[in-house]
Amino acid sequence: MDHIIDGKKISQDIKDELRDKVSELKKKGIHPCLAVIQVGNDPASAVYVGNKKKACAYTGIESRAYELPEETSQEELLELIRRLNQDNTVHGILVQLPVPDHMDEREIIHTISPAKDVDGFHPQNVGSLSLGEEGFVSCTPAGIIQLLRRSGVEIDGKHCVVVGRSNIVGKPMAMLLLRENGTVTVCHSHTRNLKEICRQADILVAAVGKPRFFNADYIKEGAVVIDVGIHRLENRKLCGDVDFENVEKVAGAITPVPGGVGPMTIAMLMNNCVESAVRMCS
Ligand code: NDP
Repeated sequence: MDHIIDGKKISQDIKDELRDKVSELKKKGIHPCLAVIQVGNDPASAVYVGNKKKACAYTGIESRAYELPEETSQEELLELIRRLNQDNTVHGILVQLPVPDHMDEREIIHTISPAKDVDGFHPQNVGSLSLGEEGFVSCTPAGIIQLLRRSGVEIDGKHCVVVGRSNIVGKPMAMLLLRENGTVTVCHSHTRNLKEICRQADILVAAVGKPRFFNADYIKEGAVVIDVGIHRLENRKLCGDVDFENVEKVAGAITPVPGGVGPMTIAMLMNNCVESAVRMCS
């Protein structure tokens, strides 16, 4: 097990494997295609969408971009989603979040066909995850499982502490670790004795959305620390929810920010899209 878990390298390996898979699928007449919808021109969303398009180009997945103006109505967006649901040449549909304030995010997520919901946000996919049935899993926690597996970190029987209970990170993370036979504790803003609980973790997943929240006092000697947070500091540098320099000294293994969890999210989105194409065409 490497001390620094290299998400950049592991995500590159996954994208290379997917590129080979896509090339094989194309020989069989299957052309994976992801529809990416962006409403408005939020600069951060534009960067995320750009990175997704780049990853599609690298892996050989066709990306169809729908850049809709800020004033698009909810019904117009839903109509586009319904059309893409019916289009057999589209295997994944992604609406870049957040959407403008006049839109209803929940209704948007519910309208995407669960079979094309490569973000894994639809209630049917969330339900499948908790039942242990096949379905799409939210990309960030799915990427973390890959990071752990491919770094040789055993989850079975380990005490896994997840700090954060959001629908896209904390909750699906807890379900996935449970599926891998971890003993899982989920913490949130009402948790008492957070430090003591974290100090019992063999694997700690930090997803509180607070820069450098976790220092070495929260970490058991030799624990594996996964940092989900991404924050841009005043000096333009990126940091995570974990104080890397401080925690790195006691952790057995740790993900850096940048170059840890972040790149895995897009790699898993590509993976879900290829999986969807295989499912829809078989
Ligand atoms: P949310 O803000 O939705 O959730 C934060 C969670 O942390 C909540 O459950 C909250 O508890 C909990 N929390 C907040 N403060 C504390 C505290 N003091 N003690 C214990 N728990 C606390 O964030 P997300 O899950 O969406 O994202 C978390 C971080 O991960 C963010 O920095 C985000 O930018 C990053 N992120 C990174 C991704 C990547 O690809 N690397 C992808 C997605 C997110 P409560 O529920 O009680 O409010």
